[in-house]
Amino acid sequence: MSFTDSSEGGCICCGECCRGGMHVYLNPDDLLLISRFSGLSNTYGLFEQKIVIIDYERNGAPVPRLRFSKGPAGCCSFLENRLTDEDSPGFDSGRLIGLCRLHPEYKPLVCMLAPLYRSVDLDDGSEQIGFKRPLPGCPGYIGFDEKRLPDMTLSAGLKERLRRETDFFRMLSGLIADGMSEKQIIGQLYYFDC
Ligand code: SF4
Ligand code: SF4
Repeated sequence: MSFTDSSEGGCICCGECCRGGMHVYLNPDDLLLISRFSGLSNTYGLFEQKIVIIDYERNGAPVPRLRFSKGPAGCCSFLENRLTDEDSPGFDSGRLIGLCRLHPEYKPLVCMLAPLYRSVDLDDGSEQIGFKRPLPGCPGYIGFDEKRLPDMTLSAGLKERLRRETDFFRMLSGLIADGMSEKQIIGQLYYFDC
């Protein structure tokens, strides 16, 4: 699965970073997509069913994230085991692997990007995109030459989702600066009809 217009590679959806202590943070677009995938008419159902919980970023901002099950086999609830076949690119046939049920059209942005990450400076609007191995042995990272990063072009769909996420970050930061309560922020940004 490539995150660019060309075929530089990228995540091969091995599912290894969909378990354990990973934190998959979501933006409102992600909530909309996951609600639709789950057959819900509004995003509130995701919180009610505890598919999504509210977590707090370093500045205390309430941000939704996917709830992983606990324990040694803890994983994302959208991860399922599948036996690979000849239509499973990057894998030998007959191997049991974990695949994402949201892949590709309902997948959260952060999962679409992995093993890329980006950080945004809301003050000056600058953004930084780089590689970050979610796990030491991430096969989506192996073979990449980081020096080629500036030459890579993100696909148009991903660029649009990133742009919308930046708008979301701005909105969230504005509501915090305005002194909105956590409850008000959650109601305003995260609960809506699909
Ligand atoms: S980012 Fe890496 S570890 Fe995670 S699913 Fe993709 S290839 Fe596997
Ligand atoms: S949404 Fe999909 S890719 Fe993301 S953590 Fe869950 S199973 Fe993995």
